[in-house]
Amino acid sequence: MNRKQFVQSLALISIGGIAMKLKELKKLVSPLKGTPKMPVLFLGHGSPMNAIEENEFVASFRKLGQTIQKPNAILCISAHWETRGTYVTAMDLPRTIHDFGGFPKELFEVQYPAPGSPELAEETAKVITKTEVGMDQHWGLDHGAWSVIKHLYPNADIPVIQMSLDRGKSPQYHYELAQELSVLREKGVLIIGSGNIVHNLRMIAWDKMNEDNYGYDWAIEANEGMKGFLTDGNHQALIDFRSQGKPFQLSIPTPEHYLPLLYTLALKEEKEPLKLFNDKLLAGSIAMTSVQIGG
Ligand code: ZN
Repeated sequence: MNRKQFVQSLALISIGGIAMKLKELKKLVSPLKGTPKMPVLFLGHGSPMNAIEENEFVASFRKLGQTIQKPNAILCISAHWETRGTYVTAMDLPRTIHDFGGFPKELFEVQYPAPGSPELAEETAKVITKTEVGMDQHWGLDHGAWSVIKHLYPNADIPVIQMSLDRGKSPQYHYELAQELSVLREKGVLIIGSGNIVHNLRMIAWDKMNEDNYGYDWAIEANEGMKGFLTDGNHQALIDFRSQGKPFQLSIPTPEHYLPLLYTLALKEEKEPLKLFNDKLLAGSIAMTSVQIGG
């Protein structure tokens, strides 16, 4: 091989390499083939430290990732992305957002480099008729998304997009908007709501942080009440959470950690099974209670 041939062969190899990469990338961002109906999840995310700690909650997330059918892509509705209007992340490579303060350096060093899926972002905007869905190029993955998805799919090999919570809208509106996402379940999209059904940070019992399943009476009552409505299929009572008395009011002082539950619930079909897990209270005023709909 002379020098010219050698240079040409190098060029071919590198063109081959680029073609290969493009093909792989294309595969990652083409999630929308028809599939059996995907389950829908609501995951109680709790403290951001769950991203790096080993405990029973993350062990359940890990097991879940291994037992449900592997998705083509994930659509996450996180408590931590509120906007005016509705947006989906539409970039190729969403950044890992460390949207918290006062935690160890180790937590700020976590990266979750899952690709995005501009195609799923477009598809999501297409299936929603209730409102205009904006394409976002600035957000990324906040800890409501990556601190839990990391345990389901540690290799970060499933594309993830987020959809924001429109802070100007009613619980009923959120529920109805979520219903429009139903068709994505048959395109291999795993829809995950991430929040906490009982979430009152101002009332945290710091001295009970390490006590197993410690909840204030009102938190226990609200958690039990919500579980009752969930297993009875009484969605309207859960949508009308503001009319369910003092324990619900204390558990949901602001709606953002609760609303992702309504997104999950709205996607339940009549006869689909609903399973509760991680049903424990933490530090008095947080419930880790999580929900799986479908198998
Ligand atoms: Zn949170």
